[in-house]
Amino acid sequence: MKQIIIIGGGAAGFFCAANLDEKLYKITILEQNSNVLQKVKISGGGRCNVTHACFDPRELVQFYPRGNKELLSVFTKFQPGDTMEWFENRKVSLKIENDNRVFPESNSSQSIINAMLSEIQQKNIEVKTKCSVREIEKSDEKYLVKTSLGDFEADYIIYTTGSSPKSLKIIESLGHKIVDLVPSLFTFNIKDDLLKDLAGTSFEMAETSIPKLKTDESGPLLITHWGLSGPAILKISAWEAINLAKVKYNFEIVVNFISKDPDEAEELFQKFRQSNPKKTMGQSKIFDITNRFWQRILEVSKVDLNKQIANISGKEMQTIIENLCRKKFQVTGKSTFKDEFVTAGGVDLKEINFKNMSSKILPNFYIAGEVLNIDAVTGGFNFQACWSEAWLIAQDLNKRL
Ligand SMILES: Cc1cc2nc3c(=O)[nH]c(=O)nc-3n(C[C@H](O)[C@H](O)[C@H](O)COP(=O)(O)OP(=O)(O)OC[C@H]3O[C@@H](n4cnc5c(N)ncnc54)[C@H](O)[C@@H]3O)c2cc1C
Repeated sequence: MKQIIIIGGGAAGFFCAANLDEKLYKITILEQNSNVLQKVKISGGGRCNVTHACFDPRELVQFYPRGNKELLSVFTKFQPGDTMEWFENRKVSLKIENDNRVFPESNSSQSIINAMLSEIQQKNIEVKTKCSVREIEKSDEKYLVKTSLGDFEADYIIYTTGSSPKSLKIIESLGHKIVDLVPSLFTFNIKDDLLKDLAGTSFEMAETSIPKLKTDESGPLLITHWGLSGPAILKISAWEAINLAKVKYNFEIVVNFISKDPDEAEELFQKFRQSNPKKTMGQSKIFDITNRFWQRILEVSKVDLNKQIANISGKEMQTIIENLCRKKFQVTGKSTFKDEFVTAGGVDLKEINFKNMSSKILPNFYIAGEVLNIDAVTGGFNFQACWSEAWLIAQDLNKRL
């Protein structure tokens, strides 16, 4: 029986193993840690955002700053609907949340882990933990995988080591080109009086832009202890991951907290003033923001809370609108977004055959998951790329013999 060695017991490696035909191959997973699927365990704040309810491959690829062109054909073969069916067929009930993120009904990543573990056990697939791969040698038709637990011979290798720099070096030494690694999906560190002590304040729809990079995003926004987070920030961090690394995470960001054009905001303000001239500014929270944030806006705009709205000067009104719709912040660094983060960079996509995720350089060698220069915005898309790529590999190998 031909031997398949899967290097890396994470999402991509396990999903691939779970879809391989064990009657055709001897399959072994090598994992350097003492536990497998560790990232799945902590994913989505422990709930595992397993995929995203976006069922049109053309729409789906728009969420991948790196890999969007290449993944189109992959998603036409295995997409979020297939992922949901796969897990539901294995008795994992899933739910689609309002923002289209998909989670197990149990709200526990363990349900996802158990489904894969049980598949691996049924198939009698060998899992070797604390087995760190140090080198791979090509010998005639086979590979020799040198590990901390000795050498393993393989007819086929599936390389799913995630973003480990050490493991990227191994594949680089076999001839693959590696695109430099940079973090993606992070929050912005900002010190500003407008945000001070307001951690936890959220905005349903905000707009963010980085003028220097001529880029903008929109979505929910969250004030944190360190600055700003939420989809409107995370999306921009992913799309601009490389450029933001270049400027060492020091740049200016402009935020529109109410996602309204300043002229429209002014019009709403004037209308409210005409119909409520006697109200104080403190009572005049016109926009969809919290009372505390409105009061802070007035404070930093140097407008007295007790002043009647009828007595507000044009300049005062402009300052308020400027702080709401065009507030400039200086970002001075980044922080980790605990629910999900990934690394941009990895194996150059030009060297991958996306029909089956095989290496164009190494025969009988497949590559999938975060080790590739593919990453997505937050929302379940990163796992979806792993599931789809891993599934393609399994289909290819199942057809091969
Ligand atoms: C905190 C956090 C939360 C996340 N939440 C989500 C989420 O909810 N939804 C989502 O879509 N994405 C999420 N992600 C991203 C997602 O976890 C990754 O995209 C995904 O895990 C990548 O899978 P992978 O199999 O390619 O790599 P990994 O899951 O990193 O697995 C690679 C495995 O290979 C092993 N390995 C590496 N080198 C060697 C070696 N030389 N020898 C042996 N073993 C080796 C590693 O130990 C690891 O177990 C999250 C990421 C983080 C960090």
